[in-house]
Amino acid sequence: MSESDRDVVPLRQELPLLPRIGIGVDVHPFATDERTLMLGCLSWDGVVGLTGHSDGDVAAHAVCDALLSAAGLGDLGAVFGTSDPRWAGAEGAQLLTETVRLLGGDGWAVGNVAVQIIGERPRIAARRGEAEAAMSAAVGAHVSVSATSTDGLGLTGRGEGLAAIATALVLRR
Ligand code: MG
Repeated sequence: MSESDRDVVPLRQELPLLPRIGIGVDVHPFATDERTLMLGCLSWDGVVGLTGHSDGDVAAHAVCDALLSAAGLGDLGAVFGTSDPRWAGAEGAQLLTETVRLLGGDGWAVGNVAVQIIGERPRIAARRGEAEAAMSAAVGAHVSVSATSTDGLGLTGRGEGLAAIATALVLRR
């Protein structure tokens, strides 16, 4: 390819309206104390909670990471800092709202988000719509929530904790 040919090949990252995708994963262990599970921006009464610097909401955290990943803004640990006292006990919805605010400041709008929760309990299906509504409200765009188990395998199969994996699509404003 000659120098002049190279000049006419558009660089994809320079296209202003190109959507970008991101991925995020999170895992937290179940707590040994009496705390209530926070998952998908919902409180699950009667279900043991997850430990973590914040509320341990793996679904919200995976979505935050997917959004930051899509926008090229790093990750949850870098942005919020697991040692930062401002985020100690922070609710998933609060982290989501702040993440979307950061994206907006950098010129990104959220297209849509998908998150899958991995674990044996609680049964997500009964509150899937509720979780979608709560997470969508926090993000300001549609968040679809699904769930799966690992047939008894691994840390989620043994009931040691929950995991979540998320993808996000962001659009340049
Ligand atoms: Mg987390």
